[in-house]
Amino acid sequence: MAETSLPLVPGAQEHPALALVNSAAGPLGGRDCDELSTPEAATAWLIARDLMAPEAGLQEHCQGRLVGLRDDLRDLFTAHATGDVPTSAAVDALNRALTSAPGALLLRFDPATGFTRSPEHPMTQVVEHAMAAIAEDAATLLTGDEAPLLAACEADSCPRFFLRTHARRQWCSTRCGDRVRAARAYARKRATKTA
Ligand SMILES: [Zn+2]
Repeated sequence: MAETSLPLVPGAQEHPALALVNSAAGPLGGRDCDELSTPEAATAWLIARDLMAPEAGLQEHCQGRLVGLRDDLRDLFTAHATGDVPTSAAVDALNRALTSAPGALLLRFDPATGFTRSPEHPMTQVVEHAMAAIAEDAATLLTGDEAPLLAACEADSCPRFFLRTHARRQWCSTRCGDRVRAARAYARKRATKTA
């Protein structure tokens, strides 16, 4: 993991879609960080989640597609959290990602080893494979048993989503919870002084 990585929110370990949405955490605690800011960073991000073979490397074009999928997922997750209507562009993009990858491992034959199956696609297909896995995860998250748990962090200016570990959980992290409590305490103090 890169040093700039933020602590994982509940659910991000199990759900690459959640991890992807949160990979541009924005000005959290005054620090901008985007885990997909370069092709190399995006490559490392995919490898760390077993979505790509370690020897592969993304080009800028593919990095851009991954960032595009992230924007679409944010649109869908936001619609889920707020009850708003998602853009049809985001729904279409997710469906394209879902269906673009051939899920099958290809059959190979080598005289020395006989028949094998492997996912060795050209690079574009590797990326499409990863994007399909993320899109599949997102679609499952939005419609499956865990859908009611998917929530946006309620701390001011925190752009992260997380899975509620209990029904009343409002914040993605203890850091956000502490920040909100500190702000409330400060506001109370000011209110007392003014009164
Ligand atoms: Zn937060």
